[in-house]
Amino acid sequence: MHLSPVGISKRCFLFSLALCALLLLLIPTLQTPQRQGEPPQPRPPARPAGARKGPGPHSTRNATGRGKDSGVTRPPPPVAGPQGRRRAQDRDAAPAGLPGSRSRDPLELKDIFIAVKTTRKYHRSRLQLLFQTWVSEAKEQTFIFTDGEDKELRRKAGGNVINTNCSAAHTRQALCCKMSVEYDKFIESQKKWFCHMDDDNYVILPSLLQLLSSYSHTQDVYLGRPSLDHPIEAAERVKSDGTTSVKFWFATGGAGFCISRGLALKMSPWASLGNFITTAEKIRLPDDCTIGYIIEALLEVPLTHTRLFHSHLENLQRLPTDNVLQQVTLSYGGFENRRNVVSIAGGFSLADDPSRFKTVHCLLYPETPWCPHSVHH
Ligand code: UDP
Ligand code: MN
Repeated sequence: MHLSPVGISKRCFLFSLALCALLLLLIPTLQTPQRQGEPPQPRPPARPAGARKGPGPHSTRNATGRGKDSGVTRPPPPVAGPQGRRRAQDRDAAPAGLPGSRSRDPLELKDIFIAVKTTRKYHRSRLQLLFQTWVSEAKEQTFIFTDGEDKELRRKAGGNVINTNCSAAHTRQALCCKMSVEYDKFIESQKKWFCHMDDDNYVILPSLLQLLSSYSHTQDVYLGRPSLDHPIEAAERVKSDGTTSVKFWFATGGAGFCISRGLALKMSPWASLGNFITTAEKIRLPDDCTIGYIIEALLEVPLTHTRLFHSHLENLQRLPTDNVLQQVTLSYGGFENRRNVVSIAGGFSLADDPSRFKTVHCLLYPETPWCPHSVHH
């Protein structure tokens, strides 16, 4: 068959037209799974009755056997309910969306992403103690977020050390930079829970597992201890121009806090890929406050207050000795002048174990080789 030059260019033209049409048809399909660039869309505030903020006994916690001193003073967030649109990653959890449903599989330690925030100068003085104690029992899921390379640390923790390349200063920007990386790594990890810790926290892993087991990671769950006895107030510069103010609770970062995957995914427009830093700059508040702002003020999900998390902002001596091992996190502070540590006795003197972390660890894991043999349950 003879093809004239005109025929070829006509065919080319028709072919390009068809290709364009095909591409146009494909664009919406290609876009759906990726909604990172979309403008922030807070989910509808609709919430089933009984799930609103307000103090009250926490029935689920009591059902786990922790009894009256559960420490959780707020009802858990609603079970499923109107969840708004779910993201692609969020659809894998089968029981989601059915009221009262729980994950069929029991929660395991490997389902929790534990982020430890630290800085170069504390690798020796603080991190070493954590590696010697609780981190050794949760190596695979504990991730160290720091700001400087350290061969010794790299050798110990390998790929679980993340050099954020954030500044080593103790400024809002530097701390928010680390939190931003923590968030992104958690999303990437596919784990069910995100728990943030400082490098002066001891995590009592069995308690953490027990606490998180009473919630579903597909629900909106934000668990922690408020550092103030009242909500913080900030100028609203995200949803409006800053002339109005918002009140919200936030969990103090120094005591550690946890966020369910379901909720973390909804935070994405304000938290992922550097958006966290932008959000923090808008309200000019520290990293932990910004987390509270995104969750309580923007997503309208209440913080579940718990007294099981502890920072050295509180008087740790006041924690009854009998209850120490049932807590989720502990901390220490003020060795120099006024010592602030939990009061617990065991195989180590205050001089040998000023933070009390070794003593706590040996009570929890008496078989640890370096634990005094006299320490038993
Ligand atoms: N931190 C940091 N960069 C700094 C100083 C501190 O990332 O320049 C981290 C530190 O490792 C810890 C947290 O911030 O995890 C809180 O620090 P610190 O305990 O010294 O202060 P405080 O608890 O009194 O706020
Ligand atoms: Mn601290």
